[in-house]
Amino acid sequence: LDWQYDPAPESAAIGRLRERYQLFVNGRFVDGRGEDVKTINPATEEPLAIVSTAGRADIDDAVHAARTAFDGPWSRLTPAQRGTYLFRIARGIAERARELAVVETLDNGKPIKESRDVDIPTASAHFFHHAGWADKLGHAGYGPAVRPLGVAGQVIPWNFPLLMAAWKIAPALAAGNTVVLKPAETTPLSALVLAEIIADADLPPGVVNIITGAGDIGAALVNHPGIDKVAFTGSTEVGKQIQASLAGTGRKLTLELGGKAANIVFDDAPIDQAVEGIVNGIFFNQGHVCCAGSRLLVQESIVDEVIAKLQDRISTLRVGDPMDKNTDVGAINSAGQLATITSLADAGDAEGATRWTSPCPLPDRGFYFAPTVFTDVSQSMRIAREEIFGPVLSVLTFRTPDEALAKANNTPYGLSAGVWTEKGSRILGMASALRAGVVWANTFNRFDPTAAFGGYQESGFGREGGRAGLAAYLDADDEPRTIDLDAA
Ligand code: NAD
Repeated sequence: LDWQYDPAPESAAIGRLRERYQLFVNGRFVDGRGEDVKTINPATEEPLAIVSTAGRADIDDAVHAARTAFDGPWSRLTPAQRGTYLFRIARGIAERARELAVVETLDNGKPIKESRDVDIPTASAHFFHHAGWADKLGHAGYGPAVRPLGVAGQVIPWNFPLLMAAWKIAPALAAGNTVVLKPAETTPLSALVLAEIIADADLPPGVVNIITGAGDIGAALVNHPGIDKVAFTGSTEVGKQIQASLAGTGRKLTLELGGKAANIVFDDAPIDQAVEGIVNGIFFNQGHVCCAGSRLLVQESIVDEVIAKLQDRISTLRVGDPMDKNTDVGAINSAGQLATITSLADAGDAEGATRWTSPCPLPDRGFYFAPTVFTDVSQSMRIAREEIFGPVLSVLTFRTPDEALAKANNTPYGLSAGVWTEKGSRILGMASALRAGVVWANTFNRFDPTAAFGGYQESGFGREGGRAGLAAYLDADDEPRTIDLDAA
């Protein structure tokens, strides 16, 4: 699709990077009252840009601006007019796709081919999809008295910085809310480029505000008395803190948290296809994926074949400079995340699992972790229970479908799962019995703005995407009032 690509070369996109980035409040770029911080390129450990961060007074200003916009110009627009702004943002992202891909890769460490082919087009598609919803909500089963909630306070993580911003902002605006969003402290840049796109789209001031800062600013935002709805994507630990701090406030909350997905391969599966899916499931985005297929469950009769093919395939992955279009696995986002991955992998050794590491060379500088596979893993080990959020796969085996199901569901999480088999009936049976918000069959890590994404249990609650995702931003029942399940 040509519209997805900005014709400018990457060097021009790098040239457009600014030395210093500011907050976006009430339609203007302003200095925050927090400290200036450096954002680092994790592939080189060199500073990328200076970012002004918010103080408490900036949160007050942003929430006030969002409230004023909600009470005034934004609510006076017709839903179709609101949709027009979302179309403009979608096109703005597409027009600056090359630049955004470069910014995302430099700030996050993900391979440029992933930012270029997945993150940025999917973010644009998310705005296109929600633009179409703006004038149809009253006709989509929510009833004629559909109402937005007000000001949404939104906090997002660093693994898909622009895409997570799109998942948050697009449905909020389509439903008629206004927004204050805080990106993660290690990856603020693409959200601030999105702010430029929003400014260029002439949205009324205050409809979208973007403030930067660390967890303390996130906590102050979600607890601000002027916020009507909180949407958080991040770790289960912080999600629980937010849920506790909002108890009794009556504020609507959605949480998209961590995961420990089972990717289940039956002995009748198309093995070569499954191997590709296993590799994609755990090494896409260096495994910094909430729905990563980090627990591989293989039927015992084919485990040797699957492991051998998997190791051959992983050995061909190129790990290194994320700006190189041939790179398959890029840099780990931060020194802290690299330390977390290293210590969990070490726990795998200590608990008696067998570690295999891809023989690929790693760059001398930057934060890198070679693709790793653990076998001889038991369910009680930390590498089988805890979210590693890195390129580390834990392999377990099973004999029967019931055993596969029991092992897959043996987790406090419940975000996603994969099933590989030729049997349609088995796919349907597993999909309904797996306690996971998303189940992929003979594929993995597929995202589409029309499909609801979200978890059960400690993976959170609420959905993003499609019609179900809009319920989170409407003063309506959580489910649409019609019973037709045709759409989204
Ligand atoms: P994190 O919870 O440490 O931080 C996420 C965001 O919350 C950041 O912007 C951070 O500044 C902010 N924050 C930190 N403490 C806060 C507090 N007390 N109150 C409010 N905000 C606070 O998570 P992370 O390490 O940045 O992201 C990785 C986690 O995100 C993983 O667990 C991953 O599974 C999860 N995630 C989930 C989804 C999903 O859709 N379910 C998607 C992406 C990532």
